[in-house]
Amino acid sequence: MTKVYSFPRGGMVYEDNTVPVNKESVVAYLPALSLIPMIQHCGNRAYPIVSVGDMVSEGMLIGRGNGAGSANVHASLPGRVIRNVSWRMSDGRMNDALVIRLEGSFEKLGKKQELFPWNGLPDYEIRRTLSHFGIVEMEGSGRPVIDIIHEVQNTKGQVSLVVRCVFDDPWLIADRLLCHERTAEVVEGAVIAAKASGAAQILFAVSHGEEELGKRFLQETEQYGVPANMIVVGTKYPQRNQRELELALRDYEKKQNISIGSMFALGPATLAAVHDAVKCKKPILERYVAIGGSAVKNPQVMRVRIGTRIGEIFAECGGFIDEPKRIASGSPIMGNVVLDLDEPVTKTTYAFFAFLKKQSRINKIRNCISCGECRSVCPVGLDPEELYKIDRSGKNQNEFLSRAKECHGCGCCDINCPSSIPLSIAIQNLALRKPLL
Ligand code: SF4
Ligand code: SF4
Repeated sequence: MTKVYSFPRGGMVYEDNTVPVNKESVVAYLPALSLIPMIQHCGNRAYPIVSVGDMVSEGMLIGRGNGAGSANVHASLPGRVIRNVSWRMSDGRMNDALVIRLEGSFEKLGKKQELFPWNGLPDYEIRRTLSHFGIVEMEGSGRPVIDIIHEVQNTKGQVSLVVRCVFDDPWLIADRLLCHERTAEVVEGAVIAAKASGAAQILFAVSHGEEELGKRFLQETEQYGVPANMIVVGTKYPQRNQRELELALRDYEKKQNISIGSMFALGPATLAAVHDAVKCKKPILERYVAIGGSAVKNPQVMRVRIGTRIGEIFAECGGFIDEPKRIASGSPIMGNVVLDLDEPVTKTTYAFFAFLKKQSRINKIRNCISCGECRSVCPVGLDPEELYKIDRSGKNQNEFLSRAKECHGCGCCDINCPSSIPLSIAIQNLALRKPLL
């Protein structure tokens, strides 16, 4: 029987029947106008190197990364730059985008894919290519892969690359489909990333129920002669989180009596992008995105060009059944509110949802009833009720500040609180307070 490794406490089973259920992805229409943002990563805004009026080609470099955390930006379609727009993102930062009107011929689309051998390339050349094509982690804050590799190279001892195929949230359906449709590219991307970082082995962390996928990964890896293993992990949310994944893998290390050393994890979409950059000399032109929620007529997983406006994608899914109450990107657990349907898909977009009022979690906040639900689901073992009350009291009790800092914002407590108290935000506020001397 397969041994399943999980984080030891808390967490929750998260289900949502409004997630798309495609068996395969659908290619979205090419947008007549694409908005290519200069921030699609965690660091500084990239500098545009083209101006209004210029023609750009598909995959052309149009924004140059600016220091650690920043990444190069490329045009996803050929056309003419017709203007520059700016807007405030849901995290409060300003962003700006070059608006490109589709014109001219395609360099990549519909052409025979030229493949470039990479085995003989020196590692630094692979790293240079990843940097040039602006490859970032295609989720979360969009940390550049080159920064992650540099960090790994500064660690001592053995390093393992973890391929994170952990689907603890049904809104990760786009990643799951990508794994099944682009298995070979994900594996080759992992082998390339391992070579570029000096990782000694590849560990495929797959969710319980995805063992067949894990076996296909291992079969594909055999041809490269790189040591690889599959680890089956639990499906409770937030198993995918860095801390919870590491807990499960350390348990595996101990029980199997093997050595993992330091580890770094990359998701399947990122590894497919690593493959495309190094083997096809292609930046991230499109990504798999899940579109769903109770307000959407035809939920589906689509392959969408970077820069496509969100409103166009919802329209391609048949539009809305009724006026949505909440539109956001990402997962409903931690999603970012979409303030304008003209906002574009970026490298880190993996899902959009639109909820009707009945499915929306925007409920009136009520008093705590001390039910203890928040404590039982916290994977860190915190007492969110207590930390929330400390934050509200305004008292600066030093002993609680360090506890609050342990919160990694998974949102399990928020989702399970019957009084709809925004616990995690309060706890993170508390963590930011300065201790009293
Ligand atoms: S889940 Fe909500 S209502 Fe229950 S103890 Fe925690 S804060 Fe109070
Ligand atoms: S958000 Fe923080 S306090 Fe709430 S369950 Fe997650 S780790 Fe625990």
